Amino acid sequence: MGSSDIAAELNAWLDENWSDELTVRQWWRLLAEAGWAFPTWPAGYGGRAESSAVALLVQDVLLRRQLIGPPHGIAVTMLAPTVLRHGTLEQKQNILPRIVRGELTSCQLFSEPGAGSDLAGLQTSARLMDGEWVVNGQKVWNSHAHDSDLGMLLARTNPTAPKHDGISFLLIPMVQAGVDVRPLRQMNDEVEFNEVFLTDAHVPRDNVLGEVDAGWRVTQTTLGSERSALPARALTPPAGERPGWLDRVACEVYRELQATGSKAKELYPRSGNAARRLAQQVGKWDDQVVRDRVMQLHVLSEANRALTRRLGVTRIAGAPSIVKLAAADLARNARDIDLDILGSAALLSGPDAALGGEIELMALSAHKVSIGGGTDQIQKNILSERVLGLPKEKRDRA
Ligand SMILES: Cc1cc2nc3c(=O)[nH]c(=O)nc-3n(C[C@H](O)[C@H](O)[C@H](O)COP(=O)(O)OP(=O)(O)OC[C@H]3O[C@@H](n4cnc5c(N)ncnc54)[C@H](O)[C@@H]3O)c2cc1C
Repeated sequence: MGSSDIAAELNAWLDENWSDELTVRQWWRLLAEAGWAFPTWPAGYGGRAESSAVALLVQDVLLRRQLIGPPHGIAVTMLAPTVLRHGTLEQKQNILPRIVRGELTSCQLFSEPGAGSDLAGLQTSARLMDGEWVVNGQKVWNSHAHDSDLGMLLARTNPTAPKHDGISFLLIPMVQAGVDVRPLRQMNDEVEFNEVFLTDAHVPRDNVLGEVDAGWRVTQTTLGSERSALPARALTPPAGERPGWLDRVACEVYRELQATGSKAKELYPRSGNAARRLAQQVGKWDDQVVRDRVMQLHVLSEANRALTRRLGVTRIAGAPSIVKLAAADLARNARDIDLDILGSAALLSGPDAALGGEIELMALSAHKVSIGGGTDQIQKNILSERVLGLPKEKRDRA
């Protein structure tokens, strides 16, 4: 089916099914049942086994018609692809419908104080006792652990096996006495991630994705999905019961997000157009050097968009690492250009600063793109060793 046929089918479906009275919860259910929520996923799980190009088209139609997009977040971009690939039928049937309806949220409990780039060095342990896993250890930098229902937890289940072989991928209920989530305030003043202390925390015996002790392979799916995840294009509120959006009227939520959310949405990734608007706002658009640099950013951001689309439809070795490196490069370039346009005024925050302090926030935040999900250096190691076949760097064998 061609893209104009898909758009026509979707528009007809929207004409028939959209109503201004729908709540977010009802709207997300309808999108999922019709397979429009996540078109690349299998039919029956919120999708229709279509290409990434169709998924982007659906987002564009929703954006054009000013309708809320499907749920977005870690459960969608990381947990769902991992369950689709490694989950049992029972796990798929239990977890995926709750994700597509926006009723289940997730977080990634991978990094530890002594295990970031060297993730397989993790020490958190899980032991089977009286028919369930009992978990002890500490995790860190865990985005959205504070409002998550189900954590993707890496724990050592076999302490005597070589370090990559004794790890299991567990799904841990986050709301329980043994899970202590403590927020970390970042230098950009946001509180996006946390440290998580696990003290005799409980995980049901069957909440293992893949085989026991073989979680490393499962982890590669999660990390690959994280590195190549597409940002949501249509506006969408946070999923899950706790943030409180599910039972609100969807078109009112859209208007609210449009008023407040569009600013935040523009923050990542900044485009050439955003830099142009900034230059115009501060009276620097006639400066030839500024115009030249804004044009360069525009070219980089368009090339990035084309690369992401292309890698989304073709399976190329190392694609997630390439997409992630390109996104980090774009964030750094956008930061440098915006800072040069604003000069010392970029140091100001608060409502009186340019764009309400967004540039200062962006400048303090841009670096995180090159760290989260594995640093630039680690992506380059992956590409050089696994894709280009260059000699491996020396590592400690444990
Ligand atoms: C915004 C953000 C969100 C995050 N969210 C999560 C999350 O939800 N869940 C989670 O578990 N973690 C999360 N993290 C943590 C992230 O995965 C780690 O910070 C990252 O893997 C790096 O680990 P580290 O901080 O321990 O740095 P280290 O591993 O100590 O690295 C320090 C420096 O050494 C370099 N280095 C290390 N090893 C090598 C090597 N072999 N070759 C070349 N250079 C090397 C690194 O590139 C880096 O520059 C998040 C981080 C950020 C910034």
